[in-house]
Amino acid sequence: MKVHEYQAKELLKAAGVAVPAGIVITAPEEAAKAYEQLGGGLIVVKAQVHAGGRGKGVAIGPDVDRAEALAIASGQKPRPDGMAKGVQLVRSAEDAVAAAKSLLGKTLVTYQTGAEGQLISKVLITVGHDIARELYLGLAVDRALQCPVLMASTEGGVEIETVAHESPEKIHREPIDVGLGLASFQARKVCKALGLTGETAKKGETFFKRFVQLFIDKDASLAEINPLIVTEAGDVLALDCKLNFDDNAMFRHPDIAAMLDTAEEDPSELRAGKSGLSYVSLDGNIACLVNGAGLAMSTMDLIKYHGGEPANFLDVGGGANKDQVLEGFRILLGSPTVKAVLVNIFGGIMKCDTIASALLAAYDEIDFRVPLVVRLEGTNVEAGRKLIEESGRKIITASGLTDAAQKVVAAAKGAA
Ligand code: GDP
Ligand code: MG
Repeated sequence: MKVHEYQAKELLKAAGVAVPAGIVITAPEEAAKAYEQLGGGLIVVKAQVHAGGRGKGVAIGPDVDRAEALAIASGQKPRPDGMAKGVQLVRSAEDAVAAAKSLLGKTLVTYQTGAEGQLISKVLITVGHDIARELYLGLAVDRALQCPVLMASTEGGVEIETVAHESPEKIHREPIDVGLGLASFQARKVCKALGLTGETAKKGETFFKRFVQLFIDKDASLAEINPLIVTEAGDVLALDCKLNFDDNAMFRHPDIAAMLDTAEEDPSELRAGKSGLSYVSLDGNIACLVNGAGLAMSTMDLIKYHGGEPANFLDVGGGANKDQVLEGFRILLGSPTVKAVLVNIFGGIMKCDTIASALLAAYDEIDFRVPLVVRLEGTNVEAGRKLIEESGRKIITASGLTDAAQKVVAAAKGAA
């Protein structure tokens, strides 16, 4: 689960990590009051969407071509004068209102959102700081080391992907023991790598330790502070922050779960979550409905192997009852790009004939506008197949994974 920058900063602040003061607004007029409340001077107006690259991004209305906007946001085309950026520095209340107006209700296109962009419905007004140095701090779970790793780099303010690609030696890494947090000697090593000295290094040590502890305490899966800045006065501050959390741990953190902004989520994924289905949207045109995550992964692999592109990952779990299958079908067929559906179910605890009945019942309740291929295997498979074959419905049956993948790829090509 992702949260907005302003929410991430609330969490950082509560954990004792230094962040600039800020106020969230939803209407442009509110920017004037926020500007005064924050003490005036240099103020930063920032679009709140679940994507990075906002500083270089473009806020556009419906009249601007999205592909063109993406080219500008990715630096492939020059930015025309007057085109609003997602992060704007202002020095007066009027300019704060104008900046908020150029963002709220517009679509922000950044290299991370793709051409589709994301609607801006909240703006963060925050105290601006003079930047002496822009640094980078990140935390991610390292699968090989099986622990979180703190990453720090002097190359702040730019995409860390670029640094990792072009000069990986500039990223300092500290593996974290989740029982201990960031040890003092590690915090000092990070300060050294970042060139922090004296009082600034002391502030840095505290900052890094608390940031790591927040990551552990809140079951975060990914965290990034880019840029982490050192001010002219030698303070260390998080100017930006992205936090992702482990969905499976959200039952332990109702405060974070309540931060979910449904407007930022894929509607199909939200809907699937409500019915207890694990669903992830993908770019292809072959929809899959499978029971079991491992089987779902191999089904996607097989579709790709046979020249197709999966439209989604959908795991209906061990049960696969009629209501779940029906809801699954509704979600899959709700996507206009879907050209064929593959149902791949292994009847272990559930018997294949029970599953076949559930499938047929679900099939009859919706308008199946694309070919459906069904592969059943497991307990009572003969009875299940017989039910489907004799049902008179336009369902293509398959025996074996290869047969199923080949049939659904061919069906999708025929339908496209
Ligand atoms: P992102 O582009 O989505 O990662 O958004 P950021 O919050 O990182 O802001 C983009 C850039 O705006 C930063 O890298 C800074 O260069 C600049 N910026 C943000 N806040 C301030 C500030 O308080 N003072 C100054 N001088 N620049 C800022
Ligand atoms: Mg940033």
